[in-house]
Amino acid sequence: TSVLSDRINAMHESQTIAMAKKARELVAQGVDVISLSFGEPDFQTPQYIKDAAKKALDEGFTFYTPVPGYLDLRQAICEKLQRDNHLAYKPENIVVSTGAKQALANTVLSLVNPGDEVIVFAPYWVSYEEMVKLAEGTSVVLMGSLENDFKVTAEELEAAITPRTKLIMYSSPCNPTGSVFSREELAAIAKVVERHPQVYVLADEIYEYINFVGEHVSMAQFEEVKDRVITVNGFSKGYAMTGWRLGYLAANKEIASACEKIQSQITSGTCSIAQRAGLAALQGGRTSADEMVEAYRRRRDMVLELVKDIPGFRTPTPSGAFYIFPDVTGYFGKQTPDGKTINSASDLALFMLNDGHVAAVDGGAFGAPNCIRFSTAAADEKLREAFIRIKNCLAKLA
Ligand code: PLP
Repeated sequence: TSVLSDRINAMHESQTIAMAKKARELVAQGVDVISLSFGEPDFQTPQYIKDAAKKALDEGFTFYTPVPGYLDLRQAICEKLQRDNHLAYKPENIVVSTGAKQALANTVLSLVNPGDEVIVFAPYWVSYEEMVKLAEGTSVVLMGSLENDFKVTAEELEAAITPRTKLIMYSSPCNPTGSVFSREELAAIAKVVERHPQVYVLADEIYEYINFVGEHVSMAQFEEVKDRVITVNGFSKGYAMTGWRLGYLAANKEIASACEKIQSQITSGTCSIAQRAGLAALQGGRTSADEMVEAYRRRRDMVLELVKDIPGFRTPTPSGAFYIFPDVTGYFGKQTPDGKTINSASDLALFMLNDGHVAAVDGGAFGAPNCIRFSTAAADEKLREAFIRIKNCLAKLA
């Protein structure tokens, strides 16, 4: 028996982190590994944001902050939600957290009772299922089809809802697929949610700014369901601020207060300096993000060209985020030069790491065991070299 709680024993280590660990072991042996496994911008935080953090320190922002975040930051978030998303919220509806991750966890822990069903659109972001488990809920994984760019449809959702359904979770733009829900698709989903008054929606919009198709639609824009939508967003991706740990949610007052309550007992809210930096980030608008998005778009296009030369990858065109997510079942059953059979995307990812020295994450981590996720948030030359290596090593499979 273990001294650890059942809760922790039931939890998986983040697989994106596990793959990175294996890659680091090879690097320690002197192997030149190209890592495309991380979900992180390769850009520095813009200078004006760094400057605001230095200034905050000099001005003495070193004390506890209000648990849901500084009032002026929450006001700036309300202005952002109005400007970008046409959503009217007051500071009392906003809770600033230690990354979007904590905002997601706060919400799940605030809403889900043991036995409640949480419909998770798949492919999903790694932590959703583990958060549901932590809340002793039951995840109901609903897989989008490759033909529909991995997006779940309103009909599929309707069929999955039961009287026990409490929450629906998805990201758009999606990590890992890069898919973006259109206005029509989300409107149809909102209609389904409207018919089931016990169902809430957790809309993870952390990749909002990294969008190549233009329109970002928030689920909360549909008035008939707005009160039951929790919108999560943050600074990690759009402002290249992963290490600052700054995210937020917008929700009705009851849910926002519940999230504040959890946070008051577990973290007391996030770092004062990060919050001052976040305020400056928002005041700077989205110009810096738009510059980064141009680079992400160029890399996506370049990688899609390179992938065309790799037989057996079925790769929908991502509309946002910074990943490609090919289906690799074409390689299942093939043999490696040393006689091992590739039975899964995980076997293939391991072969690409050991033979091609490129690290990626197998889709099992995202509920899609036929796929592999490659991050395109890396320098152009690195990406080009990586996909040439991949092509060459895959050619060795027979
Ligand atoms: N949601 C999705 C879909 C993500 O990909 C990530 C980060 O990888 C997060 C949330 C967490 O973001 P943060 O760094 O703000 O906690």
